[in-house]
Amino acid sequence: MHTAGDVRVEQRPDPVIVEPTDAIIRVTATCICGSDLWPYRGVEPADHQVMGHEYVGVVEEVGDRVQTIEVGDFVVGSFVISDNTCEICRSGYQSKCVHAEFVAQTIGTQAERARIPHADGTLVATPGQPAPELIPSLLAASDVLGTGWFGAVAAEAGPGKTVAVVGDGAVGLMGVLAAKQLGAERIIAMSRHPERQKLARYYGATDIVEQRGADGVAKIKELTNGLGAHSVIEAVGTQEATQQAIGATRPGGHLGMVGVNYDVTLRGIQLFFSGIHLHGGPAPVRRFLPELIQLVWDGAIDPGRVFDLTLPLEDAARGYEAMDERRATKVLLTV
Ligand SMILES: [Zn+2]
Repeated sequence: MHTAGDVRVEQRPDPVIVEPTDAIIRVTATCICGSDLWPYRGVEPADHQVMGHEYVGVVEEVGDRVQTIEVGDFVVGSFVISDNTCEICRSGYQSKCVHAEFVAQTIGTQAERARIPHADGTLVATPGQPAPELIPSLLAASDVLGTGWFGAVAAEAGPGKTVAVVGDGAVGLMGVLAAKQLGAERIIAMSRHPERQKLARYYGATDIVEQRGADGVAKIKELTNGLGAHSVIEAVGTQEATQQAIGATRPGGHLGMVGVNYDVTLRGIQLFFSGIHLHGGPAPVRRFLPELIQLVWDGAIDPGRVFDLTLPLEDAARGYEAMDERRATKVLLTV
């Protein structure tokens, strides 16, 4: 991204092994994330910035100290580099690893090849070479599925629970899928787009709420005997969505915050009196990858349906336009 709104596909030097814990992968598929729109719209600075942090591909080369990943493996990687051995990783928070590095900022996987540091701790190999139809779903595990899943886990979605999902973008839809897999009894998707409502129902939503803001909160309360949902997933990151999520969570309930909330300001006293559990942050996707890959492999979940536009990598600029203009929910780029 040369600057805001200016995406180009250019020749760059091939990556090489730098550290003995690195792997070089040939990217099979990558995608454009809602968070890529922050620099695209000028909210974050962009100056000849490499782009992309979601990826699946085939390992071409490994450093001398890589042990679990082999040349030829098909791998899915997290959007944050992690060693998966430090105390923070072992506690399940690999996105906050002491060696954490955002793939988006330094590596950029909207590319033919990528150098992945801490390959053992970042990449997970699939059980074999995937059939082409599995690739979108495996790619989803790299971020949107892993993030939606973390939102549901952070919100303690599970049997007997009513889960409300604020946001019908890719992450919100994956939150619905995750809540369903985790056994939630009732899943309320907040959406006013007919197509996304359809997909939310496909993934397990039992109710749809179209209202937003205070009206949305009132509707959730109405559906939950005036109490609010046990579990709420916030997957937007705006002021309105965050307030709505806090308001929709019952006292003692759990709010999983996975929307990147740049401009949200919360009054401490509002949080204090809400009496809710609040958990979130950049999703530790690496924690969930082995399980998510297996669910995809077994055909138990089909997260790849969130991709509603597929383009070749050389048309990446068109993909950004489509996402920016909301003509696409999530764009897959084939390499
Ligand atoms: Zn670590």
